[in-house]
Amino acid sequence: MRVVILGGGYAGVVCALRLAWQARGQADITLVSASDHFVERIRLHQQAAGQSLVVRELASMLKGTGVVLKRGWVTRVDPRGEVTVEGEQVPFDRLVVALGSQVDRDRVPGVREHAWTIDAGSSAELAKQLPSIAARKGRVVVIGGGLTGIESATEMAESYPGLQVTLLSSSPLGENLSEAGRSHLNAVLRRLGISVQQGEVRRVQAGAVELSDRFVPFDACVWVGGFVVPSVVRESGLPVNTRGQVLVDPYLRALGHENVCVVGDAACVVEPLAPTGMGCKTALPMGAHVGENLARLARGLPELPFDYMDAGVCISLGRKDGLIQPMGRDGSPAHWVLKGRTAAWVKEFIVRFTVWTLLGERRRWVRTLWVKTGRTRSLEVPGRSTLAA
Ligand SMILES: Cc1cc2nc3c(=O)[nH]c(=O)nc-3n(C[C@H](O)[C@H](O)[C@H](O)COP(=O)(O)OP(=O)(O)OC[C@H]3O[C@@H](n4cnc5c(N)ncnc54)[C@H](O)[C@@H]3O)c2cc1C
Repeated sequence: MRVVILGGGYAGVVCALRLAWQARGQADITLVSASDHFVERIRLHQQAAGQSLVVRELASMLKGTGVVLKRGWVTRVDPRGEVTVEGEQVPFDRLVVALGSQVDRDRVPGVREHAWTIDAGSSAELAKQLPSIAARKGRVVVIGGGLTGIESATEMAESYPGLQVTLLSSSPLGENLSEAGRSHLNAVLRRLGISVQQGEVRRVQAGAVELSDRFVPFDACVWVGGFVVPSVVRESGLPVNTRGQVLVDPYLRALGHENVCVVGDAACVVEPLAPTGMGCKTALPMGAHVGENLARLARGLPELPFDYMDAGVCISLGRKDGLIQPMGRDGSPAHWVLKGRTAAWVKEFIVRFTVWTLLGERRRWVRTLWVKTGRTRSLEVPGRSTLAA
């Protein structure tokens, strides 16, 4: 069975490693990645704030597993059995799309021209600008009140106390948090001197953000206003939602295309399961699950449905503070939270653990683990698979 995995992020790498581990030589695995190294996306706000990140070569993360690393940009996905990587046709029996998401630069006019974004290239460039802006007590406006926006604003404000940071959000901050969580978040934002403003951004101009009723001037603008799936996925003919996420069944197969699995940010699980949000915490379980399922197929066993429960939200608020908000089975926030330095340590541990898990999967020491609901057992099909290649 020829398996081609597109994307060398969290979901793609764990999928390749788990499949190599479990297929026991019964699958030819190729991982296609645009980059030579693994981008630790969940630390990119730290990079923007001037901290240097550890560079991990994908080749060494896959070493000894038998996975073939193919470096290049995927320019076309044909679900019928072929992808194009920089002009070269690569055939597959099973495809795993793990191309993740990217900052949506087209949602508001002017973002492409006048704003920085929290992706690998842009955040490294922003990091070079911030020291001089901070030295003259300049203004940074972060647009986007989601978790990435909050983490970015707090990281920059803590790293550069001279900076005047404004966090602009279209909705109230921390809507998915408990009262205790929101109150801690607001206290930290106040302590760091971050001004929070609410409003709908119309456009970003040179030096100012235009809202419906006012302008907010800046020396640097950081756009974190939402993520979309790369266009190559949207143009593939696979069924997608408005963010370009591929609609997948409980086995994480694209609807109507049983030979194509989609994992991580690029996937949206439709009924009967609740949709999973974009996040590293879902990308790793999805990737591991599909790796396991493909290994089962290679051994003539049926695929198993994906089962995942969101156990909570972990937010870094700079390096010295954080917020851990546990969630109940129904997705509602628990009344209690972990906060302060302890939460910062827990968050840092979790971030390190994601990479340790990948390194452990390669050595076959550690498996990616996650909390399950137990609600998908009725979807498990007993007996052997007819799909085995
Ligand atoms: C600053 C920040 C903080 C975050 N913090 C958290 C957090 O605390 N918890 C959490 O759960 N999530 C967090 N996230 C979200 C998390 O990073 C993503 O959900 C996660 O990276 C998704 O993993 P993935 O494998 O699906 O995609 P990615 O990690 O995006 O990997 C996709 C890979 O595909 C590659 N690729 C894309 N297009 C192509 C192409 N055409 N050809 C070849 N390769 C291509 C990319 O280069 C990338 O290597 C954060 C995100 C950011 C930006």
